[in-house]
Amino acid sequence: MSKAIYWFRNDLRISDNEGLSEAVKGNKVVYPLYVLDERLLNHSFMGVERLGVHRLRFLLESLRDLKSSLQSLGSDLFFFIGDPSTILQRQYEEWACSALYAQQGVAIDETNLERELSEQLNARWYWGSTLYHLDDLPMTIEELPKIYTEFRKAVEKQAIIRELVAAPVIIETEKHQQTQIPTLEDLGFETPVVDDRAVELFLGGETAGKRRLHYYLWEKELLSEYKNTRNGLIGGDYSSKFSPWLAQGCLSPRTIFYEIKRFEKYIKKNSSTYWLIFELIWRDYFQFVAYQAGASLFKKQGMAEQAPPLFDKNRSFNSWCEGLTAEPFVNANMKELNRTGFMSNRGRQNVASYLIHDLGVDWRKGAAYFEKMLVDYDPASNYGNWAYIAGVGNDPRGGRKFNLQSQKEIYDPKGEYQALWSH
Ligand SMILES: Cc1cc2nc3c(=O)[nH]c(=O)nc-3n(C[C@H](O)[C@H](O)[C@H](O)COP(=O)(O)OP(=O)(O)OC[C@H]3O[C@@H](n4cnc5c(N)ncnc54)[C@H](O)[C@@H]3O)c2cc1C
Repeated sequence: MSKAIYWFRNDLRISDNEGLSEAVKGNKVVYPLYVLDERLLNHSFMGVERLGVHRLRFLLESLRDLKSSLQSLGSDLFFFIGDPSTILQRQYEEWACSALYAQQGVAIDETNLERELSEQLNARWYWGSTLYHLDDLPMTIEELPKIYTEFRKAVEKQAIIRELVAAPVIIETEKHQQTQIPTLEDLGFETPVVDDRAVELFLGGETAGKRRLHYYLWEKELLSEYKNTRNGLIGGDYSSKFSPWLAQGCLSPRTIFYEIKRFEKYIKKNSSTYWLIFELIWRDYFQFVAYQAGASLFKKQGMAEQAPPLFDKNRSFNSWCEGLTAEPFVNANMKELNRTGFMSNRGRQNVASYLIHDLGVDWRKGAAYFEKMLVDYDPASNYGNWAYIAGVGNDPRGGRKFNLQSQKEIYDPKGEYQALWSH
């Protein structure tokens, strides 16, 4: 009787989860397991703690939702905190397993861990975090184009998007002592106060992610206006807000893609419906860039030949974090981030450009602060976008400096956003 562990990572869902479905098909007994990496709780990067309260809250909610879905399939979720490698090896032995299944990661910490585990255990890795499968790209990862448009045109012309993988209907798991998902307080955090200016409550989990997808497409048909509204700053409806669910894998990009296709068939097909797919391909691009870049993604010079010049020696960093700079538009965005864990794409571009190009601070400090604060933090999208703005990303065409004055005039002409987040 074969037994296996299914190790959940950034794929906290039952639907369209190839690794999970393969584990269930190939084994009599499957143990679903999640490890909260202790390094996220007690390590820092660039002097900034790695896991802040907004993302931790979302993660714990996602795990609770996953546990309850697994229970309804006859199984459970075993939760541990510690070193993933030690815990996986221990449980593999204790449960007498003959295989470990999991989704493949893209960033260096994740791929290093996979290499280590593959030496110790019979491990099977499944690619599942992107719209286009790694094996279906019309180029090798080494040949990834330096410019997004070239990548997009190549995949749109030459690659397929695979069909969705059906969710398992039953999962056999031998009964063992149950493990509980901790609360924020158990982990030494205080539950954050809900700010009624927040764009969305961002309840974690596959169930809430599917609800948001349904709201954005079918209930409000907001997708049909996405291209015109996506640069907004206030409210829940200007963009999809799918990012936290994508980052934890509560929704797969393919699930969103096929839902957009259904929307195009039954409601409307226009440049907005295409544009959301265009953005999902941007996301893919950053995932593949991170996979290719390895450790370079986290170095000062990124993927470029030279590091960008610094002139501030990091003195202004704290006031930027707290939203206490000389620029009220930057401050408003930072206050929104600190209070809610979210900031619009427009805001992110502007505050990042300001920290790097106006204050002259190391771009990785800003990226590290986003890593801690963002509810939708994803290593590839975060460090990839920061490196791109700093001019040390894949794209060889230099950095992106935004003119704050004209950005405010275009995107917040009446100063409403700035007033909303003035305190
Ligand atoms: C400095 C900086 C840091 C960022 N850090 C993150 C991060 O840690 N996690 C994250 O998910 N996104 C990050 N982004 C990208 C983008 O800002 C967010 O994905 C987007 O604002 C999330 O809101 P939404 O889901 O409503 O986006 P929508 O406009 O509705 O877009 C739909 C989806 O497309 C993807 N997407 C859109 N724009 C981008 C982009 N520029 N790069 C990658 N994917 C994109 C996201 O998955 C998003 O959910 C960052 C951007 C910048 C400029």
